[in-house]
Amino acid sequence: MRAIHPDAAPVVTHGFSVDVEDWFHIIDCDGAPDPRSWDAQEDRVGLGTRAVLDLLERHGHHATFFVLGWVAERHPELIAEIATRGHEIGSHSYGHAMVSSLGPDAFAADLDRSLEALTRAGSGPVRCFRAPGFSIGPGEVWALEILASRGIEVDSSLFLAPRAHGGWAMDRRRPFELWLPSGRRILEVPVVPARIGKAALPFSGGGYLRLLPEAALMRLFDAFEAAGEPTVAYLHPRELDPAQPRMELPLRRRFKYYVGLDGVHDKLDALFARFRFDTVSGAAARGALDPPVVLRQAA
Ligand SMILES: [Zn+2]
Repeated sequence: MRAIHPDAAPVVTHGFSVDVEDWFHIIDCDGAPDPRSWDAQEDRVGLGTRAVLDLLERHGHHATFFVLGWVAERHPELIAEIATRGHEIGSHSYGHAMVSSLGPDAFAADLDRSLEALTRAGSGPVRCFRAPGFSIGPGEVWALEILASRGIEVDSSLFLAPRAHGGWAMDRRRPFELWLPSGRRILEVPVVPARIGKAALPFSGGGYLRLLPEAALMRLFDAFEAAGEPTVAYLHPRELDPAQPRMELPLRRRFKYYVGLDGVHDKLDALFARFRFDTVSGAAARGALDPPVVLRQAA
């Protein structure tokens, strides 16, 4: 891995994204609160969201905030603040269900409800989408068709590395167009993993961002910088809220959700100081695209 000089000016514009959901919006996990109990949980989503807004502002970066429709209905003031502070607002669905668990009709209904909630909260037209848990894989081409039919032009739901749910290994290192079976097109701005030998390490968000020491994180971004390749970093407001309530989760999940919370603020501060970030649309517009991927209808 080639390191860049620490004082070298950044040449790549990476995407920065925030999935705006609360500490209890955890999916696909025993012990996560039932959606019917969400309204009774302690509401903390504004704390972490404002912490990341302040950090972005300090460094002059912009980001895409993929907001749950459920959150937008309860916090229109937060949507207005994100927009006023110059960021892009996308949809992260309404109810945070995995795409594969919904099927086409329920997915379309959930998407419509989320777009309605966001626009009613003052988002303006919504052009970007990220699926809960990056849960669009080769079996969910129909979901991309529904997104395109609702005016979504930019998707950031593909995770180009194997993962517990979702994950779609494609030979792409930069944003690219998806050509859908219907003839519609959608611009994909994926989370691109680092390559360590034959392994793919999705280092730029979630548990990896919390677990990796700052120096290791910097080296991984340096390698992308040296290759001239952008990636997309992603964060949840709860990751900047170390005092959030802890759920009784299975041990592995407890580790995955709560390890390294205390260090996230300073790591982000260092990353923002050294590298250049923009909205996912902005990052795609500022760099070269990889060749399109032509999709056929899944059998
Ligand atoms: Zn999410």
